[in-house]
Amino acid sequence: MKPTILDMTKIELSQRITPPFRAKQIFQWIYAQYVDDFHVMKNIPQSLRDTLSAEYDIMPLHILNKEVSRDGTIKYLFALRDGKTVESVLLRMKAAEYDSGGTLLHHAKYTVCVSTQVGCKVGCSFCLTAKGGFTRDLSAGEIVAQVLALKKDNNIAAERRLNIVYMGMGEPLDNLDNLAKAIKIFSDDDGLCIAPKRQTVSTSGLSSRIDQLGAMNLGVHIAISLHAVDDALRSELIPMNKAHNIASIIEAVKRFPIDTRKRVMFEYLMIKGKNDDRTSAKKLVALLHGIKAKVNLIYFNPYEGSPYERPGKASMIAFQEYLISHGLLCTIRDSKGIDISAACGQLKEKANQERV
Ligand code: SAH
Ligand code: SF4
Repeated sequence: MKPTILDMTKIELSQRITPPFRAKQIFQWIYAQYVDDFHVMKNIPQSLRDTLSAEYDIMPLHILNKEVSRDGTIKYLFALRDGKTVESVLLRMKAAEYDSGGTLLHHAKYTVCVSTQVGCKVGCSFCLTAKGGFTRDLSAGEIVAQVLALKKDNNIAAERRLNIVYMGMGEPLDNLDNLAKAIKIFSDDDGLCIAPKRQTVSTSGLSSRIDQLGAMNLGVHIAISLHAVDDALRSELIPMNKAHNIASIIEAVKRFPIDTRKRVMFEYLMIKGKNDDRTSAKKLVALLHGIKAKVNLIYFNPYEGSPYERPGKASMIAFQEYLISHGLLCTIRDSKGIDISAACGQLKEKANQERV
């Protein structure tokens, strides 16, 4: 199997071809023209086109299936070249708006939820991805290709900026090198131009890796999947909490370089009867004291055989109001795409017979 050219940053590509400046043109063809064949790259000399197509593939995945939700969310199932599958989700955060004369006021706003691994090693008790265990890391190119394929499939103009959340399948910080490379490739000015500040890495809390990511100074946001305020419950939900406990995560967050205008997002999965009470809310306020934080409450999304229950709206709102009245910013995540199992924690690798 040939390597995919998407695995390379522009600098790496320029070091492998002569003359090096052609890397910029190749990037533009791939990421701005959505071209999937070297021979179409008209301004590249024939000899270089031949060498490139002899040595590299472009797309390392293809669309196997897609499902469209009532709210416009689209879930994609991609096949990788070894036959493994991953899912990604295109979320339309805001529809395009026009004034009464039909003039465009603003374009639709999109966020793409990308996967970083096939499966996941962390094994959270509430997450469907965890059920299938861990298969393998995605390469940087396989991460980047998800967004490229979604933009192309939806005819999203190359210059339309979108946001990326690393909240699909897998634990991004467990695949840190490829993640860091993908962040750089996404942000290339001749590529997809998605600045790091538009990218959010969600982690279950590998505290030492939070430090490593911070030391890379990439400029990305982080979201911490906290979900519990005491270590006993958090270890039940996220087994590796025993090695990376709450205190170590909070310390790592305090060290993480964030844009002074921004906040660290703490995701808090609300599970009925487990962590949705007033005492937990109170402890959460104390825990986040002194951190520029924003809490995002997530309804537990049940799946077949899941061990927990979704809380009622009233307890979500009561929890939110408690946090807000105690000075914390707090939002409730609307579960986009829930009718097609595209919401958080509902993505998984598909067995062969489920493919369409
Ligand atoms: N591994 C990373 C990112 C992928 S999971 C992480 O854990 O942060 C993305 C988000 O979905 C996490 O906040 C995760 O806790 C949440 N999630 C997992 N299973 C869920 C479920 N069944 N219902 C709601 N959210 C879930
Ligand atoms: Fe992995 Fe995140 Fe799912 Fe936990 S919640 S098993 S870390 S994908």
